[in-house]
Amino acid sequence: MNLKEIMKEAGIVGSGGAGFPSYAKLADGADTLVVNGAECEPLLYTDYVLLQKEMPMVLAGIQAVLDFAKIPQGLLCVKDHTAKRLRLTDGTRLADRIRLKVLPDVYPMGDEISLIYQATGRVVKPGNLPITAGVIVYNVETLYNVAVMLKTSTPVLLKWVTVAGDIPEAFVVKVPVGTPVSDLFDKHSITIPEEYVVIDGGPSMGKVINPDSAVVTKTTKSLLILPPNIPAVESKFLDGDKSIARAETACCQCTRCTDMCPRYLLGYPLEPHKMVRTAKGAATVMPEMVLSATLCCGCGICETLACCQGISPRAVINEYKALLAKNKMRYVGTEEVYPAPEREYRMVPSTRWESVLGVARFDKVAKYVGEDTAYNRVEIYLRQHIGAPSVPCVADGDMVKKGDKIAESGEGLSLPQYATIDGRVTVYEGIKIIIDKVE
Ligand code: SF4
Ligand code: SF4
Repeated sequence: MNLKEIMKEAGIVGSGGAGFPSYAKLADGADTLVVNGAECEPLLYTDYVLLQKEMPMVLAGIQAVLDFAKIPQGLLCVKDHTAKRLRLTDGTRLADRIRLKVLPDVYPMGDEISLIYQATGRVVKPGNLPITAGVIVYNVETLYNVAVMLKTSTPVLLKWVTVAGDIPEAFVVKVPVGTPVSDLFDKHSITIPEEYVVIDGGPSMGKVINPDSAVVTKTTKSLLILPPNIPAVESKFLDGDKSIARAETACCQCTRCTDMCPRYLLGYPLEPHKMVRTAKGAATVMPEMVLSATLCCGCGICETLACCQGISPRAVINEYKALLAKNKMRYVGTEEVYPAPEREYRMVPSTRWESVLGVARFDKVAKYVGEDTAYNRVEIYLRQHIGAPSVPCVADGDMVKKGDKIAESGEGLSLPQYATIDGRVTVYEGIKIIIDKVE
């Protein structure tokens, strides 16, 4: 098998965000591999701890990709605070063809388009893939998973997760994919106060989950326990229709949301103040009118920081994105674009961003508490990646061992799945495979 096939067989996905199958990004024509260790959102320390504990494995994963795709250079990109904690400086040669790139402590730096510009000085044309700018981007954990598969033939069984928020001590733990969040919290003596919420992901872009039913998936980077009365949480409960109604009546068209939008500042034709002005009814009839909504990375700066009228351009744009997805439409530009000269002065410092979100007081550097694999049940979802769901290759009652394949790749873009503990299988309504430990 070549590396692309190995990555597919290992079931590797981008380890935060939407879960794009990593093998599918491995294309010819790149001259730079950008390794995303930016850890964009506040409170997250997963990549930092992984680099602290497993730097040689991450570098081995990077080198495997450089060799396979004949890429001359790899840039391991981390924010300034992470570099300082790792005692590394900008330009440090980490291994053959691999250098450290230090990014400024600003938000959003982990956004692929912003990251590529910051690391290489290139702007990906709007709506195009990074490979069109000669770049492939992988997350730190993705490359660690590549090295684990190459060195031990072990597919993705474990997930590195930051557990943080309003708890006495933040920590990073390695748990089986499919671990119930409630079991993880019980084992680590975490109780969730009344009205608090649990977020899978960062405070600005993560999703509220039900801790009684949610499990750790391949894309769970963090689990945050947060109080209800902070902007980071309040923004999760905005109603799209109400936001549009409010936007249509209260927006004074000051353009501040556009002036601070990181994609606009890179030269993208995305102007949130115009989205806010656009009537939803008209957009429903003419979705092409709001096509540039697909260029929004969802960072939330327009909503939480820029607008002084309490309007959420992001919520409005999300409505338009759903409309465009339904019509299978997206913006694909052919034009070169150039960053605005003022971009440098309009970037949002990370400390300011965590204050605006109301999470600054919860920011404690997470400690690594090691591997925690003794769980009695896991639930492996068949759709943990973009593309076709995996197809079960086990049946109810089958006994499986950790590492056994339990689902094959579906048609086209897809990935297989593996048992992450020993036990007995239940295939649940074609959605997930539950494995219960048998004493
Ligand atoms: S910042 Fe608020 S008020 Fe100003 S244009 Fe944007 S949505 Fe309208
Ligand atoms: S969420 Fe707002 S600020 Fe962020 S990219 Fe989208 S439009 Fe721009």
